Amino acid sequence: MAAIEKRSRHEWQELDKEHHLHPFTNHKELHKKRSRIITRADGVYIYDIDGNRFLDGMSGLWCVNAGYGRDELVDAATQQMHELPYYNNFFQCSHPPAIELAAALEEISQPQFRRVFFAGSGSESNDTIVRMVRTYWDLLGQPQRHTIISRKNAYHGSTVAAASLSGMKPMHRQSGLPIPGIVHVEQPYWFGSDRSMSPGKFGVAAARSIEDKINEIGSDKVAAFIGEPIQGAGGVIIPPASYWPEVQRICDEYGILLISDEVITGFGRLGEWFGADYFGIRPDFMPFAKGVTSGYLPLGGVFISDRVADVLIDKGGEFFHGYTYSGHPAACAVALANVRLLQREGLIERVRDDIGPYLQKGWQSLAEHPLVGEARMTGLMGALELVRSKQPVERFDEKQGAGTICRDALIDNGLVLRAVGDTIICAPPFTLTHEEADELIGIAWKCLDLTQQALDA
Ligand SMILES: *Cc1c(COP(=O)(O)O)cnc(C)c1O
Repeated sequence: MAAIEKRSRHEWQELDKEHHLHPFTNHKELHKKRSRIITRADGVYIYDIDGNRFLDGMSGLWCVNAGYGRDELVDAATQQMHELPYYNNFFQCSHPPAIELAAALEEISQPQFRRVFFAGSGSESNDTIVRMVRTYWDLLGQPQRHTIISRKNAYHGSTVAAASLSGMKPMHRQSGLPIPGIVHVEQPYWFGSDRSMSPGKFGVAAARSIEDKINEIGSDKVAAFIGEPIQGAGGVIIPPASYWPEVQRICDEYGILLISDEVITGFGRLGEWFGADYFGIRPDFMPFAKGVTSGYLPLGGVFISDRVADVLIDKGGEFFHGYTYSGHPAACAVALANVRLLQREGLIERVRDDIGPYLQKGWQSLAEHPLVGEARMTGLMGALELVRSKQPVERFDEKQGAGTICRDALIDNGLVLRAVGDTIICAPPFTLTHEEADELIGIAWKCLDLTQQALDA
C-alpha cells in the first residue's frame, strides 16, 4: 500500500543528488556532503535513517508547534480526505472545513478581524496582501498610495512579491528585486547596532526611520507598513519594548495600513495567540501560515480587518485573485483540529506561564559562556549572539564561520538549531518538557565549548 519505496540511505542520497533541487541550498556543497535523510519524528524529536535522534529545537521550520506524532491532526486529515478530499471555494461554492475554520479564527483574533482569505503558504498570503492593499487604496480614490514600507533583513517569503517585501540583499540580487513600490527601512536590531543608544531610545529611533521614509516619499503615497512582530529568519530580532507602540503611532498618524506578519509568531509562539496581541498593536492585516496547522499540511491565509474588508466587499466588485488551494479542505480540517488542540491542552498558556519562562531561564544562563554576547528569548523564540569578545563587544570575522561551526557541532550532538551568520536561533515545539529543555541547554553549552575550541585551534 505504501507509495514510498524502502531504500538504503545511500540509494536515497544518490537519487536526491540526481533528481532533487532543494530550497535555499548551495547544491555543490550539498553534493559534497549528501543530504541527511529524515525518516520519522515523535514529540520533539526527529530521527534520521540511521536511527540517530535529534531534539528539534526549530519545530521543523518554526511550524510544528504542537509537536510531532499528533494522532488528532492525522485523523482530522484522514477523515476529511475520505469525506471530501478537494473542492474549491471559487464559483459560489464553499465547504464546511473552510467555513468552520474561518469562524474559529474570528474567535481567537482581535475584534477588527472578522474575515479571512485562505492561501497555501505564507508567501502566497503576503502576495495576497500586496494586491489587497493596493486595491483598497484604488477603491478609495487614492491610487497613488502605492508604496509599501518594509524593513531591511525582514523575511516575508520567497515568491516575487513576498521576496520583494523581504529585506534580504542576496535574494534581491538574484532576480532584480524588489518590484517597484516596495522600500525598506531600519530593523530594530539593538545588538546589531553600535549600542551607543539605550535599547529604549534605539527602539524609538528605529521606528522613526519609518516616519522619515514616509516624509521622504510623501505621506499621500504610502499604502502600508509590514513587519514581523519579532523578525524570525533574520535572526530572531526582538525589538525593544518602545518599538511597536511608536510604529502604531506612526501608522495611525499617517493613516497607513499596518500589516503584522504572523507567519511565525501566530498561533502561540510568544505565549499569546498572535504577536500583535503580545505587543499590543492593532494591525489591519495579519498573514499567517506555518503554525496554523502545526505544519502537518500546508495552509496560509490572511486576516483582513473590517476597515479593509468592508471597502473590498462594498466597493470592489470581483477581486481577481485566488489560489486553487485557497481553503483546501484537508488543510483546513487539520488547522481547525490544531486550534482546538492548542485550546484543549492550554499549550499557549503553557508557553506563557510554564515552558516559556523555564526555557528562557536556561537560555539566559548561556549568556555566561565566554562566546555569548547576548542571549534573548521571548515566548519560545530565542537567539544567541556569538562574539569574539564580550567587553567591549567584538564580533567574529565573517570568514571564521563561528555560527556554522556551532550549528554543525549542535547537530553532531543531537540538537537542531539554526545559524543566521553568528546568531544561533531556537524555536522549539510548545510541548517541550522541562527535562527536554534541560537537555537542550546542556547540549548548547557543550557545543559552545566545542565551538570555542575549534575557533582557538
Ligand atoms: C516562513 C515565513 C514566510 C513565508 O512562508 P512560506 O510558507 O514559506 O511561504 C512569511 N513570513 C514569515 C515571517 C515567515 O517566517
